[in-house]
Order: sequence, then C-alpha cells, then structure tokens
Amino acid sequence: MELKALYLCAAVVAVLLCSSVDFIQSPTDVLGPVALLEPTPSSARDFGAVVSDAPFAVVRPESPDDIALLLGALSSAAPSPRATVAALGAGHSLHGQAQARGGIVVDTRALLRDVQVVVAPPPRGHGDHSGGATEPAAYADVGAGALWVEVLEECLRFGLAPLSWTDYLYLTVGGTLSNGGISGQTFKHGPQISNVLQLEVVTGKGEVVTCSPTKIPELFFAVLGGLGQFGIITRARIPLQLAPPKVRWVRAFYDSFETFTGDQELLVSMPEQVDYVEGFMVLNERALHSSSIAFPAQLNFSPDFGSMGRKKVYYCIEFAVHDSQKDSSNAEHAMELVSEKLSYLRPHMYSVDVSYFDFLNRVRMEEESLRSRGLWDVPHPWLNVFVPKHGITRFKDLLMDAISADDFEGPILVYPLLADKWDRNTSAVVPATPDGVMYIFGVLRSTDPARCGRACVESILAQHRRVADEACRGIGAKQYLARPPSPASWRDHFGSSWGRFAARKARFDPLHVLGPGQGIFPRTDPAGRRDAM
Ligand code: FAD
Repeated sequence: MELKALYLCAAVVAVLLCSSVDFIQSPTDVLGPVALLEPTPSSARDFGAVVSDAPFAVVRPESPDDIALLLGALSSAAPSPRATVAALGAGHSLHGQAQARGGIVVDTRALLRDVQVVVAPPPRGHGDHSGGATEPAAYADVGAGALWVEVLEECLRFGLAPLSWTDYLYLTVGGTLSNGGISGQTFKHGPQISNVLQLEVVTGKGEVVTCSPTKIPELFFAVLGGLGQFGIITRARIPLQLAPPKVRWVRAFYDSFETFTGDQELLVSMPEQVDYVEGFMVLNERALHSSSIAFPAQLNFSPDFGSMGRKKVYYCIEFAVHDSQKDSSNAEHAMELVSEKLSYLRPHMYSVDVSYFDFLNRVRMEEESLRSRGLWDVPHPWLNVFVPKHGITRFKDLLMDAISADDFEGPILVYPLLADKWDRNTSAVVPATPDGVMYIFGVLRSTDPARCGRACVESILAQHRRVADEACRGIGAKQYLARPPSPASWRDHFGSSWGRFAARKARFDPLHVLGPGQGIFPRTDPAGRRDAM
C-alpha cells in the first residue's frame, strides 16, 4: 500500500504541476501497474454518443483508500491543482456526465462490484408490538460498481430482491444512485435513491465516510441524486424484500391520452394490488412491433395510424402484479379487480406470466434487437422530463409538435410518479406538484447514422432543448439525466434548492474536483481562481 500511495501521489503531483498533460509518454511508464493508466475508449464515450471528452488518465481503484489518496492529494496539494475527477460507472450517461476532459476518470466497474446479501436475525423484542421502527430483515451490501443485474442475480439466490428498479439493469448502483433510478415500481416504493440504508463515500476532500439517514445525514442525502458532485460512492446498503417467483405482466391499449393517463392514475392508487405501472406512446407500426419484442404474448392489435394530416396516436399501459403463489390465484384475483375498472380499448388487454428475473431484465431483449439492427452504438439524443400532472397534456402536445410520428425510432415512455415517495432531503430535483402526481416523459430515440448524421443529431438536441425550456418555464417541469448548457441554467434547474446544493458542494468538494462532466461548478484552485467550463 505504501508503494502504491507513493506512485499515486507522484502521479497526482505530476498532474498538478503540468498545465498540459504531455509530461510523460504514457502514464503507465512512470507509474507502474497501479495508479494512473492510459485512457481507454470507454473513458471518453457514453451511451448518448454526443459528447466525447478524453481524460488524461484512468484510475482503477482496488479499494476506497485508492480513491481517497487521489482526491486527498488533488484537494490539498499546492501549488495549483487543476485536475478534475469523474466517477465512471457503466457509462450509460447521455451527455458526457461521467467524463473528465484532461482529468482523471475513476473506473468503479474495475473492482468495486461485490454483492453481499445479509439476512439479519429477527430484531430484538420481536413480538412486542410497540410500533417502533425496525431494521429491514434483509439487505444487500454492494460495491458501487456492481450492475443492478448482478445485484439481482445474487439476491435471487436467497429468494430476495431490491424493491425499486430501473427499466434497464446494466447500469451501476453508483450511477443510478447519483441520479435517481426510476421505473414502474417507483410509484409504490419511491425511486432507488429513496431505497438506500447506508452509503460509503469518498468525499471530494478524500475522506472515506460511512453515512446514513442518521449518521452524517448531510453527506448521505447530498450524494443521493447528487450527480457525482460531492463524493464517489464506493458501497451502498440496499433493503431487500421477498422476490416473487412470477409476475403477471399486462398491456392494455388506448386511443385517448386522457383515458390512458386517467387509468394510469387509477392503477397507482391501488398499490395493494399493483406492483408496477408504466406506459408508452405508440406512434407508428414500427413502435408497436419494437415495443412488443420482449412481451411474449400474441397481440391481435392492428390499429389504423391514419394518414398525412390525420395521424392517429395510440397509448399502451403496462402494469404488473407480483405472483407470490405458485398457482397464480392471487395474481388472478388482483387482475380481475383491476382490469374491470380500466377503460382500455376493449378487447385489447393482453397478459402473460413470466419469471421475476425475465420481467425485470426485459429491456435486455430490446438491447439485443437494437444491436442486431446496428442501432445500439449510435447517438442517442434522449429527452427525459418530469412534468407536473397539470401540464401533461400541454407537454404531450409540445412533444408531438416537435417530432415526426412517421419516422420516430424508439419508445416514448409516459407514466405517473407520486411526489411523496421522493425524499426531499436528497439532491434530486422534481417539480412542485400540488396534487402530488407528476409524470416522467422519456423520449428514448436511437438515430441511424445512415439517415441522421451529426447535423441531424444536433438539430434533435436543439429541438429537445426548446421543448424542455418551454416545459420548465411554462409548466414547472424538471429535466432528468440532462446536462443543462451552463452553470446559470443549472441554477434555474435547482431553483429554490440551489443554495443547499451549492452549500453541500462547498462542504464536501470545496475545490470542485468532482463531476466536471455535469458542467455545474467550474474547477477552482486554493486561491479561488476558476477554470473556464
Ligand atoms: P455513468 O454514466 O457511468 O455515470 C453517471 C453519473 O453518475 C456521472 O455523473 C458519474 O460521474 C456519476 N457516478 C457514477 N458512478 C458514481 C459513483 N460510484 N459515485 C458517485 N458518482 C458516480 N435511468 C432511470 O432512472 N431509469 C431507467 O429505467 C433507465 N433506463 C436506462 C436505459 C438505458 C438503455 C440507458 C442508457 C440509461 C437508462 N437510465 C435509466 C439512465 C441511467 O440511470 C443513468 O444514465 C445512470 O447514470 C447510468 O448509470 P451508469 O452506471 O452508466 O453511470
């Protein structure tokens, strides 16, 4: 460890002293097998494929102490520290948020990825019904670089699973906890950032800290939804529940936006019966086909999408009921109760029983399909917006004015979330919603380079900015997973939470070493001089 510390410090000092990064031919030449490594292609690329900022070097930490050495040196060394540090998870950001131009990328996938399931004995005093809060009976202690699919696989060996998910499981725990982590379970259990018991974090100052809602809560809540600004998460403790063996997975079609959203809100008001609620817009034949790839039921739905000037749009609710009994009777019962209350286009409701793993891992099939069509490693100009309930029709109209329904490629997700499931102490920002309901709109477009080159992608991004600006200004919407264009626009994004966010930065990463790819805080040196962004 001492030798490693020496290497790392030598490397860090070298970075600090050199304003350009060409002080050595290759970082590995000077630093040996640990510490600063040559940048890899993945350190300058992400899923969005619209930003590519190469770092100076990559670090593959063997332990939180390696990260602490790096950040400690960068935040305290004189004369003039300039290097920034970005944590890299699975690199599924959309706008370079995990990149560090000319700085250092800490690859959390390298070694911080073990998963340990702990099933605690019943709490003391079990049976005394005093109503006091008790620790959950089971949790997983996971390295922040673990993918959610790896967490799921390990937990299922114990018949257990986390409560709150993302649609796609090949994202890291650290990456989604730095943003929010939402899916169809969020209405019931809150986002993933509301489902964490404890974190281990290396702060921007290089301190390794274990925190929780009761132990150093300022750091715990700062880091959740904190966009990688306050520390690098190295471990998380995630509560678990019993995993159902099977899931009844249902889809129902609509031709009215109001009926569609009305039924979604009905479903999220029935958490006793329903475990998952999402939905999406069906703009064209291709969207109908591609949204059905992972859904293993035969659909007899052949809608008329109309013609030029008279286009018709359809909507699909997707919901699921966990089946904890092997004979399906409880899922059957819940289904009957629920489906008779819904106003879908009769008879177009379809359901199928699948294993819990296959249900949660459903987007993997869509990934494989997109890969086979050459549409995975392409630019993804995505737009994700939280819209308060009162603005959803206006937002849908804004969106439909901006996109062409004929050739749109990819899903447009639309589903409700309940504001009271979001812990307002975290750093994540969601809209004010007087009636407690907001919607996520996710415009998840893949662009085919043969038909949409750089200029076309840029124009889609500009169009998204216009839609988002109008929605944020006019409806009080908030973007998700976005990178607003300037520090000033970030202040607008945070609104009344900006003061708290900035104070957290000053406390945990005062020199603005962390998270340069978000473009929120320009790097400063100990004399208070700022780098341009
Ligand atoms: P990265 O892209 O590697 O990093 C994201 C941000 O987090 C960066 O700022 C990075 O510096 C920071 N970071 C990463 N690790 C750490 C750490 N250990 N400590 C501190 N900061 C860290 N999101 C949802 O909420 N729901 C979905 O259903 C969903 N589906 C998706 C499907 C696909 C196909 C894709 C590409 C993205 C999806 N996302 C979804 C978005 C996803 O949650 C975010 O992009 C997330 O950041 C990706 O995790 P990652 O491991 O790839 O993180």
